[in-house]
Amino acid sequence: MVPEKFIDRLEDVVGSDDLIYNSRVTEVYSTDASPYSGRAVAVVRPENPEEVSEILKLANHHSVPVVPRGAGSGTSGGAVPRNAVVIDMKKMDGIEVYQDDMIVFSEAGAILHDIKRSLCKFDLFIPPEPGSLRIATAGGFVANNGSGKRGLKYGSVRNFVAGINAVLPDGKIVRITYRTHRSPGINHQVFVGSEGALGVITGIYLRAIPIPEEKKTYLIPLKNTTEIEKSLKRILKVLPDAVEYIDSKSSSALGYGEEEFIAVEVFGDDRYAERVIDSLGGISIESQEEKRFWERRETLGAEIAKKGSRVYAGEDFAVPFSRLSDFIEKIKDVERETGSEIFVYGHLDTCNLHPAIVSESFEDSMRAAGRLADTALKMGATVGEHGVALRWEFLKGLDVYRRLKYCLDQKNILNPGKFGL
Ligand SMILES: Cc1cc2nc3c(=O)[nH]c(=O)nc-3n(C[C@H](O)[C@H](O)[C@H](O)COP(=O)(O)OP(=O)(O)OC[C@H]3O[C@@H](n4cnc5c(N)ncnc54)[C@H](O)[C@@H]3O)c2cc1C
Repeated sequence: MVPEKFIDRLEDVVGSDDLIYNSRVTEVYSTDASPYSGRAVAVVRPENPEEVSEILKLANHHSVPVVPRGAGSGTSGGAVPRNAVVIDMKKMDGIEVYQDDMIVFSEAGAILHDIKRSLCKFDLFIPPEPGSLRIATAGGFVANNGSGKRGLKYGSVRNFVAGINAVLPDGKIVRITYRTHRSPGINHQVFVGSEGALGVITGIYLRAIPIPEEKKTYLIPLKNTTEIEKSLKRILKVLPDAVEYIDSKSSSALGYGEEEFIAVEVFGDDRYAERVIDSLGGISIESQEEKRFWERRETLGAEIAKKGSRVYAGEDFAVPFSRLSDFIEKIKDVERETGSEIFVYGHLDTCNLHPAIVSESFEDSMRAAGRLADTALKMGATVGEHGVALRWEFLKGLDVYRRLKYCLDQKNILNPGKFGL
């Protein structure tokens, strides 16, 4: 139980409109896009770092657990509260572009697509782009060290975080405000990928780069999955911007026939890339067709969800390059053995695959998810970009994290229960 006095003080901080308590609305906050769920005892919606700081000071004083939440689109249970107060960050959604520095400052609750649109006005963009672009917040994406397409050439969002404003678990406000494209130290980077357990991110300085004048997308048919490593090695030699894998089921869901294929995005007018891709039987798609393809790819997960009981569980695996085709084959084995349908797609340049499970029931999907996770672990895979949270069997170096956590959050009030702590 949370002390009434604590709730009263929360109301003093955020006001009654931004405190949800004793209401069924808190149930909406008891889960995220993952199959896990918990219980939100209350929800607060701060409007500035000072309010976040007061909330954390109170939580510390009363030893009440709190969970920062963006859009709740995470698929590993990161924003799931276990009898905790949820800090909904979406009211903090300001965006400011420093055009001449090619830096954008975004408050944590800003939606990635709004940041993209703001940058677009100045002919700028940030390469890491998740399928959840239209829903995910900057804070959640950075807290998960998310990526999406273009991971090999540009890395995850970590490479684009120049500075961070955050509030530590004891309520201390820290402002690490670099507006440069290189910035020293681990001080701000410690929050990237910390999944809401080391501090509440309130603002982020992100690097942006100019939008290329030309870009092309090629679709390369795959005759056989076993060819995939060979083809990928050749494709990577041209240093493409994005490489996506689409299996035959996903291809059909996209409206591209029944053949598995690889989609390659190349910025600029690159003749060498064209020659290599041509030798692999690739064809280019242009203008409206190209736009349509990437739009459909972005909503592929949602399209698949229409086909049955889809759970976002066990569907984010980074596999060693050498095990790629092997892993895809093993996924098909799980599909045959469990009777679930599994659509495989993902960011091939980093071997980060998303096997999407669809079954007749939730239980069947969870069974298939468990089988996939066991298979992935045996093959040396880990989670790629959707966060670890309640899938911490995939996390190595837990001792390092444990000590960091103890230094910053001795009472373990921030997002407890994640990473097994
Ligand atoms: C359809 C779909 C497609 C997706 N595609 C991709 C993809 O291509 N690439 C990819 O990387 N991911 C993808 N994801 C998963 C991805 O984890 C999220 O979309 C995104 O990173 C989380 O954003 P969010 O705002 O929803 O965060 P939430 O789910 O609300 O939170 C995620 C984690 O961050 C923490 N957190 C949130 N806000 C803050 C804050 N301000 N300070 C500190 N911690 C915070 C939470 O406590 C939690 O641990 C996809 C998810 C879906 C549903």
